[in-house]
Amino acid sequence: MSPRDPINLLLVEDDEADAGLVRRALRPLGGRFRVTRQASLADGLAWLAGNDCQVVLLDLGLPDSVGLDTLLRVRQAAESLPIIVLTGHDDEDLALAALEAGAQDYLVKGAADGPALERAIRHAMARMHLEDRLRRSERRLQSIVTLAHDAILSVDRDHRIILFNPAAERTFGYTAAEALGMPMAMLLPERLRPDHDRYLDRYATMGPASRSLNDRPREFVARHKDGHEFPIEVSVSKDAEGSFPLTATVRDVTERRKLEEQLRLLAATDPLTGLPNRRAFLETAGRELAGAGRRNRPVALVMLDIDHFKRVNDRHGHAAGDEALRRVAETCRDSLRAGDLAGRLGGEEFCLLLPDTDLPAAAGVAERVRQTVAATPIPLPDGAVLHLTISLGVAIAQAPESPGALDDTLGRADRALYRAKDNGRDRVELDGGPVALAAAG
Ligand SMILES: [Mg+2]
Repeated sequence: MSPRDPINLLLVEDDEADAGLVRRALRPLGGRFRVTRQASLADGLAWLAGNDCQVVLLDLGLPDSVGLDTLLRVRQAAESLPIIVLTGHDDEDLALAALEAGAQDYLVKGAADGPALERAIRHAMARMHLEDRLRRSERRLQSIVTLAHDAILSVDRDHRIILFNPAAERTFGYTAAEALGMPMAMLLPERLRPDHDRYLDRYATMGPASRSLNDRPREFVARHKDGHEFPIEVSVSKDAEGSFPLTATVRDVTERRKLEEQLRLLAATDPLTGLPNRRAFLETAGRELAGAGRRNRPVALVMLDIDHFKRVNDRHGHAAGDEALRRVAETCRDSLRAGDLAGRLGGEEFCLLLPDTDLPAAAGVAERVRQTVAATPIPLPDGAVLHLTISLGVAIAQAPESPGALDDTLGRADRALYRAKDNGRDRVELDGGPVALAAAG
């Protein structure tokens, strides 16, 4: 509709004289208004249902409806229709109540000439248009907040919750009715609450320039209504003035954490034996050596290899080979003390990391593993029984905090292992280690 098109105006007025006043006031405005008059609410509503109407002038006292109810029933029939209430001289209270109830303006009957009437009508239409846009925008926002998979909550300057969407209900276990008006801190573990209030204030006063929580989500710990704590990812936005209310988007990342932990474990584990794989074992061993060096404690490595493993595969198939690897891994694990670690370095080769252990003690552990493997027959699915032996080489780390210590110790343990193979297998050989160095020195 262009501004030059006539405005379809519905005048609902039962009084002939009052209706005449409006018609007379609008007459000098030429074709700018097309006025339809109805004398009762029922006739007015019926006309609205079948006609395009841009504005209503509404008398609240009609034969079939009186007072605010008249306004509410028109509003109900036409949500976005601008309504100007017509009142008598002594009806100021009713006029104000009508504005509260959704009228866009009111006019005292007979008090407005043509131009004043037109201005009121055009203002009412513009105002309705803005209200309509605001209402649509609020509904859009509301549906976003309601449908969001992430929890969305807002807090006022007293840190009380003023918005709590359905995802927040699911995330934290509180209903919106329970959460609204409560201090936001109740969503946190008790130990974090005192700091949180200070933090909120500081954040709110840093001004719009502070983007710390907007750029990327931060991770925090939250507390569910049932008391359990869970990891969350939080983004906070604030209004343009950079103060309250603050709105936070909160994502429960429990599942993602579990998945990450599983992936981390998978990446570090040999799937066949369940032992740490080569990379994970060497990482741990490197850290352990560095720590042992700082504490000036001995640390031992035992390299271990299944004797004639190729024969097991050749004679009994790879499934039997796998079973042999699993059983040796199990024996290693069972022989270890708290703090010791076994890993599969690859093929039929394993390694034991023994912290706080000198050469004689490490030799004792190695010998125990050797005996256990030798004494444990492995029944195979095909009815055969495997009798495995292993060869072991033991070395103590020297200058364990030095960068090359791990490779050096592994190399010496490996050479001791090969000596065990050369010397007939099913035995433990010790690296000359400190003794050889002392002799050389
Ligand atoms: Mg009347």
